[in-house]
Amino acid sequence: MMGPEAMGVANANLVWSDEKVCRNFLCGTCPHALFTNTVSTGPCISRQSSTDPFFVVQKMDLGACPKSHTERLKTEYLAAKDATPSDPIFNRFQMEYEANIFAFVDECDRRIRAAHRRLEKTPEENAKTTNLVCSHIHLDRLMVTHTCSDA
Ligand SMILES: [Zn+2]
Repeated sequence: MMGPEAMGVANANLVWSDEKVCRNFLCGTCPHALFTNTVSTGPCISRQSSTDPFFVVQKMDLGACPKSHTERLKTEYLAAKDATPSDPIFNRFQMEYEANIFAFVDECDRRIRAAHRRLEKTPEENAKTTNLVCSHIHLDRLMVTHTCSDA
């Protein structure tokens, strides 16, 4: 794995509230993980899409997340949230997370509209665009449930 995870030892000293820790990851799902790892993120995105040239070009290719995704810190975050749910920091993290996801969904919308504009509306091309819409719906569902449970 590339990025902060590769630093290993440094992560041992990290706490979940650290700026270097990805808050999207702590609160639910990081868009980077969702779209760079298209094979394992869920049934909606995984089918066809990784081999579909149109999708590969058009998908939200965010690259690796610059922040740390560490399961241990997520576990500690959730444990701390359980212990003191009234601490305003948890509300703040959640608000940040939702703002990030909304911004990301807006960007998806923008790209979907742009893709539609470029396309002649043949059935094949519409089917390709559906991949993008499908990803978008998948994200909306994440917003609602905060888990990827549509298997
Ligand atoms: Zn992240």
